[in-house]
Amino acid sequence: MAVLVTGGAGYIGSHAVAALVERGEEIVIIDNLQQGHKDAIIGGKLYVGDLRDGEFLDTIFQENSIDAVIHFAANSLVGESMKDPGKYYHNNVYGTLVLLEKLIQYDVKKIVFSSTAATYGEPESLPIQENDRTLPTNTYGETKLAMEKMMKWYDTAYGLKFVALRYFNAAGAHASGRIGEDHSPETHLVPLVIQAALGQRPHISVFGEDYPTEDGTCIRDYIHVSDLADAHVLAVDRLRKGGESSVYNLGNGTGFSVKQVIDTARQVTGREIAAVIEDRRAGDPAILVASSDRARQELGWNPTRNKLEDIIGSAWAWHQANPSGYNDK
Ligand code: UDP
Repeated sequence: MAVLVTGGAGYIGSHAVAALVERGEEIVIIDNLQQGHKDAIIGGKLYVGDLRDGEFLDTIFQENSIDAVIHFAANSLVGESMKDPGKYYHNNVYGTLVLLEKLIQYDVKKIVFSSTAATYGEPESLPIQENDRTLPTNTYGETKLAMEKMMKWYDTAYGLKFVALRYFNAAGAHASGRIGEDHSPETHLVPLVIQAALGQRPHISVFGEDYPTEDGTCIRDYIHVSDLADAHVLAVDRLRKGGESSVYNLGNGTGFSVKQVIDTARQVTGREIAAVIEDRRAGDPAILVASSDRARQELGWNPTRNKLEDIIGSAWAWHQANPSGYNDK
């Protein structure tokens, strides 16, 4: 039986595909290659097309024996989601609706879902637990929460079992050096700091120095992308064993400030990285740190690449070898 990975050519999707390849799984990938890269796929059978195309999905389910899905395909830029909410409702929510209808039609009842800490919004308390209030502060988080809820009601109606994985800040690159992070446009702190280290941008902007944190900059929970990838494989295992639907946070449980990330990048790269303090970015909570106790206990998840130096070091290695990212642009 094959695992269908939607968005398998994207940053986190491609690392999950790599983890499935390492396990010897049969893999089918759907990607419309709007954000994803063909070169990021190191195994499996790729179908290029869009989730919203039901006939395209029919072909895939008819040509393959799929027993579980890992669903990454979505737009994921907070800023863009605030300017163009329709794009997010259409691609993320409607795309998931088409997918879920096909899953029921083809009797595939296991789905692992790529969710986000943005479903919580401003945290009530820290570290964030899965039962905490979900009140997204941006359209992106709202659509991801809507997708989780769709799965819940499809479970009630049809017995579709889902595992929603709420990621904190994914960063880093695969140990093989074959795949890494290449977004266009790039908005994430770690790859932007590395671009500054490579001289591809004059400085890194620090969005706000007046937050109620020790050094005044935002604190985030950075987690290695390969540790995230491992959690997806464990979640597929849980569903294959007949596990119930559930939601898990995936983070390190330790927060680092924007300034700490920049300082660590200076150490790791040995480069001077100029930093310029700018205004706060809209919608940024001061501190987001996860409790991942539930994932550790119930999935047996054991993230091993926890050190910020190693996370940034792996990203540095990939970007040095691939200074302009993937070659398929
Ligand atoms: N950030 C920053 N400068 C940048 C990009 C991000 O100061 O050029 C900050 C951002 O405000 C947030 C943290 O870095 O506090 C992590 O942002 P990122 O976009 O990487 O992830 P997010 O937390 O939004 O998912």
